[in-house]
Amino acid sequence: MEDYRTKCIELLKERGVTIEDIADCARFLQADYHVDLKLEELLESVHSVLSKREVQHAIMTAIELDKLAERKVMEDKDLEAILLRDEGLYGVDEVIAYGICNLYGSIALTNFGFIDKKKYGIIAKLNDEGKGTGRCNTFLDDIVGAIAASAASRFAHRWVK
Ligand code: MG
Repeated sequence: MEDYRTKCIELLKERGVTIEDIADCARFLQADYHVDLKLEELLESVHSVLSKREVQHAIMTAIELDKLAERKVMEDKDLEAILLRDEGLYGVDEVIAYGICNLYGSIALTNFGFIDKKKYGIIAKLNDEGKGTGRCNTFLDDIVGAIAASAASRFAHRWVK
């Protein structure tokens, strides 16, 4: 069984997302509950989330679809146009993100909804980048939000123990 964690970190980096960016989002989600939270404390949780096979599969799928749309090489041109427009009613990107959050319980799901609305940090950057630039981050912004939300949830649960 191959470990795709390093591969996924590289894929994210290639699309402009570092694990520090994701840890920063996770810290933002936990900031109301813990004072002086250090980025390093959340980095460990991000690494742990990235170690899960289902998360790795979601990342690989999401980034591949964004890249195919961006290069305009999809067979279905309607779908390609929907992805390039990041159409509001297209929700499959969020469904893939829920797949990640579901591994980390209800706190992950509510965190995801929150950061998706707030568009904090790297998520805002990805969102802006995907607007009329030919760049497609339709799946990536949700994946990043889901990893941050899951890392924050994992952190919250471990703190209680
Ligand atoms: Mg999206």
